[in-house]
Amino acid sequence: MRVLVIGSGAREHALVLAVSGDPAVTALACAPGNAGTAAVAEQMGVEPADPEAVAALASEWKADLVVVGPEVPLVAGVADAVRKAGIACFGPSATAARIEGSKAFAKDVMAAANVPTARSEVVDTPARLDAALQRFGPTWVVKDDGLAAGKGVVVTQDVEVARKHALMLLDGGHPVLLESFLDGPEASLFCFVDGRTVVPLLPAQDFKRVGDDDAGPNTGGMGAYAPLPWAPEGLVDDVVARIVQPVVDELDARGATFSGLLYAGLALTSEGPQVIEFNCRFGDPETQVVLALLRTPLAGLMHATATGKLAKQPPLEWSGGAAVTVVIAADGYPGKPRTGDVITGGETEGVLHAGTRRREDGAVVSAGGRVLSVVGTGKSLKSARKHAYETVERVHLAGSHHRTDIALKAANGDVTMPVNA
Ligand code: AMP
Repeated sequence: MRVLVIGSGAREHALVLAVSGDPAVTALACAPGNAGTAAVAEQMGVEPADPEAVAALASEWKADLVVVGPEVPLVAGVADAVRKAGIACFGPSATAARIEGSKAFAKDVMAAANVPTARSEVVDTPARLDAALQRFGPTWVVKDDGLAAGKGVVVTQDVEVARKHALMLLDGGHPVLLESFLDGPEASLFCFVDGRTVVPLLPAQDFKRVGDDDAGPNTGGMGAYAPLPWAPEGLVDDVVARIVQPVVDELDARGATFSGLLYAGLALTSEGPQVIEFNCRFGDPETQVVLALLRTPLAGLMHATATGKLAKQPPLEWSGGAAVTVVIAADGYPGKPRTGDVITGGETEGVLHAGTRRREDGAVVSAGGRVLSVVGTGKSLKSARKHAYETVERVHLAGSHHRTDIALKAANGDVTMPVNA
């Protein structure tokens, strides 16, 4: 099987590594890729969000399977164009990708499927803002109604901060979504979906805030771990039965049949799991930890998903143990990152590349906000954490920052569950 992966983050580096371990794979390419994927896969240039360009590249390279990593190409219709060219594609159509691309669509699907989620209201003019803010909070949750790479959300106790963020979004022409605050630990559940059949992966948790103890603004994700030792028994089955399967069936009934990876971002509240958001692709950085533990060959699984054959797959196999990933971010991130700094230690095992590129002189330099994602595995979360942070110490990037508390509470058995869960 010839597999082409589209994207250039640490998620794609993790995907490429996992796919390369599948004995069914005879050729592997990544476009546009980064300095890390280039070491495992053929690297080709392409504009990832240009459906015709990706489909042409896939045909020319004679791909048997195209795997689309990020959401922007999916929302733009890359999977539709690849399938139209007669090539199997892991990733939903543009119509189904609206589950992530349009929060209004996602809320409508969830309401129709009777799936628990936050109450919400869209505000599209400043004149309506103050009255709407009165109907929510504290705590206020203010979101960009479109795609914002996880950075459009402000969660705050301060109504002035909420108002300022909403006005900034409205000023930029973005409708604002206000939501009720969902209280409880968060979990991410990835599911392979082939239109109808749902196969869940291990639940993971990511760390959205830039600083230790969840201080500072939201980011694309600063670290993650899996599995969740504190999760209530039966969590995954419960979430599939009450949340994922009803949404998959509702999408199918609407002619927006979902094929690919459906990611449920959950808050485990005292009233049970509620949806924070759905994503239409693998999450970054949770992918790095979930795939580190998956033993089932990944390319075969993704091909079965893309061709509607999940129901015939044997149960997934896992390595046991735990995985932790720590993101190393550039100076300035999540604001404007400084780029062009030389990275040393980036070739160490367990170091996945995100915003990196190889300079003409051969040096690997930073080229984005989240630069590296360092993965450690072990028999327990404690040992996986130790392994990850030991590797972090071997990497050097001037001005970089990372969180020091990824998976710390979970490893110490110190995550408080809501009372009635
Ligand atoms: P999103 O981009 O929608 O995943 O939001 C980013 C982060 O903001 C989530 O991972 C949560 O930590 C937080 N968040 C978003 N919506 C809510 C909500 N309704 N209640 C509590 N926290 C939220």
